[in-house]
Amino acid sequence: MSFPVDKIYLQQPLLVHHSPPYPKRQTKKGIITTVEAVVVGGGFSGAYTGYHLAQRGINAAIVESPLDTDCQNSITVSQNDIGVFDLNHLSSTKKTVCPAQILSPGGKRFIPSKQEHLFSFKENYLTKEFLQKSRDKGCRVFNEQILGIEHENGGWAVHTSNRLLRCRVLIAADAQGKMVKKAITLNPQKETAVFGTGYSFYNKGHSHNFLKILDCGEVFKVWCDEEMLHAELFGSLPTGYGRRKRLETLMRELLGNMDFSSTWTSVFPDIYNPAFFEKPCSGKNWILTASAAGHVHPIGCEGGLFALASAELAAKAIEWGDPRIYDSLWRDCYGKTVATAAKLKNYLHSPTIANTLFAAAYKSKSLSDLISPLLTPSLWAKKSCSHTKRLLRIMLEFAK
Ligand SMILES: Cc1cc2nc3c(=O)[nH]c(=O)nc-3n(C[C@H](O)[C@H](O)[C@H](O)COP(=O)(O)OP(=O)(O)OC[C@H]3O[C@@H](n4cnc5c(N)ncnc54)[C@H](O)[C@@H]3O)c2cc1C
Repeated sequence: MSFPVDKIYLQQPLLVHHSPPYPKRQTKKGIITTVEAVVVGGGFSGAYTGYHLAQRGINAAIVESPLDTDCQNSITVSQNDIGVFDLNHLSSTKKTVCPAQILSPGGKRFIPSKQEHLFSFKENYLTKEFLQKSRDKGCRVFNEQILGIEHENGGWAVHTSNRLLRCRVLIAADAQGKMVKKAITLNPQKETAVFGTGYSFYNKGHSHNFLKILDCGEVFKVWCDEEMLHAELFGSLPTGYGRRKRLETLMRELLGNMDFSSTWTSVFPDIYNPAFFEKPCSGKNWILTASAAGHVHPIGCEGGLFALASAELAAKAIEWGDPRIYDSLWRDCYGKTVATAAKLKNYLHSPTIANTLFAAAYKSKSLSDLISPLLTPSLWAKKSCSHTKRLLRIMLEFAK
């Protein structure tokens, strides 16, 4: 499992921190568990962080909320590596192969010429595998409610419904990062935010993914896996006001009437605001990963690959003895991609430019090959192929 950081930092780590064998004791009040790192949230990135920490011999615990926060996420990746990877290994995963289309604000339908087929799988499936592998490697996983987090002797005291968890480093992998941000006094309420709203349905035979760029610059995305169909609206408008209504109208127009199984809304830090890149994602005893850090692709809104990369980088920084290193690691690894996409997004998704690009793409195949990655870079860009390969490698390893 190697992200570019392996190539950049092949030299020996400056500081290798091996966790001491912390005791676990029972008190009258409850259980006290002391670990080196507590990962708040056992979703896609939290589970994978636990696995990487345990693999490095770091004494860690994941605390996952016992409340049902499962929104049935699926991840869609390009399967242009089908020749390289034997996807039969993945037969046990919930994978679905779907043709993909992009719809312009003017309603033109465009099928990316090079990578028409995308590969979707249920994120939850892989998360469960990661959690199991984390446990196997010695990471503790607690399904407990977090009641509060406090500073304690340079580290942290995490109070859960069943225990007091003491640790040196706190890792936020709780998507919106509210618990950890509150503890480190980065108040999430004060950040300007990006909203996403979605519905999930039981899939009754729908078999194509599409992305529609809307007049207001928002993006409506529909994608499916074997079991579920997801419809999502996201964008950089300052509030979520009216978004659900717009989403429902689009669903009726493009999908017909359907019975939805669950609905969700997410609030991310505003990646389109240049101030986003000035804020650190780690400090001397804390790290924000994946969605909690706002690491979601600004154009396609994919965050799955960043979630895996940030999990690995967080574990590396802790192994090297200083969580602050993580802030440089994510910037070196995928920060530039995110920053460039954030700058480009407003141009590419403005109706005039998007319509012009679509018109050009219709004229010639070579123009279409050039343009399709621009409109949804994270899914179809050539550059994303290496990420796709990495993701598939990880999946293969976990599917063994
Ligand atoms: C519907 C949907 C579709 C998506 N589709 C794609 C896609 O096609 N391609 C792609 O690349 N990305 C996609 N993404 C983004 C991708 O899912 C995220 O980037 C990825 O899940 C981020 O991982 P995470 O661990 O930060 O968050 P999550 O996987 O959401 O995990 C957060 C975890 O934290 C837990 N939690 C929350 N609060 C607490 C608390 N107080 N205490 C303990 N635990 C807590 C939750 O229960 C959850 O398990 C999609 C996201 C959504 C919502």
